[in-house]
Amino acid sequence: MDGAALLDELRAEALVCTRCPLADTRTQVVFGVGDPAADLMFVGEGPGEHEDRLGEPFVGASGNLLTTLIEDIGQSRQTVYIANVVKCRPPGNRDPRPDEIAACRPWLERQLELIDPTVVVTLGNFAMKLLLDTTEGITRMRGREYAYRDGRAVLIPTFHPAAVLRQRGDALARMRADLVMAKRAIARGRAGAAGDGAAAS
Ligand code: URA
Repeated sequence: MDGAALLDELRAEALVCTRCPLADTRTQVVFGVGDPAADLMFVGEGPGEHEDRLGEPFVGASGNLLTTLIEDIGQSRQTVYIANVVKCRPPGNRDPRPDEIAACRPWLERQLELIDPTVVVTLGNFAMKLLLDTTEGITRMRGREYAYRDGRAVLIPTFHPAAVLRQRGDALARMRADLVMAKRAIARGRAGAAGDGAAAS
């Protein structure tokens, strides 16, 4: 079975997941969207109200900004892959709890394995802290590449688009710069995957 078929199989399993209490309150599981063989994968925090209703990540206001920024680097929602740390909406858009993140993590890990992207861009603190196993905040960590998955990929942490929409100042320009860094890393390809930042898992 090829990667796309395995990802479809994984999606079918995830869609009926009951590993954490978010299963009781979700409308549907928001597994992920995009090219199963994408070079570039985005990881957000968790579905909000629109995503829970439509079953697709980043379709609300922050999704519109993300889509624009993706298109600005010559990609589209069809050529990248977009997923979240938790696949079900936390009620009232509260932060996902550690037990929920831990229960959901295997789905994300398997997505990363099957898609095997060259570049992973984390959106906001939750995804960055989980994937880089750090307690540092995004403001300190962003602006650099981190070797990821034993050097198979680079991880580029950037702000969550919802935070960019809330902020004034230069957050948008910084996020754009991070995505340009991602574009360059894709162009460099797998051979140059080990970044100059701190090594991660
Ligand atoms: N915020 C996220 O982190 N993910 C989504 O899918 C939507 C909003």
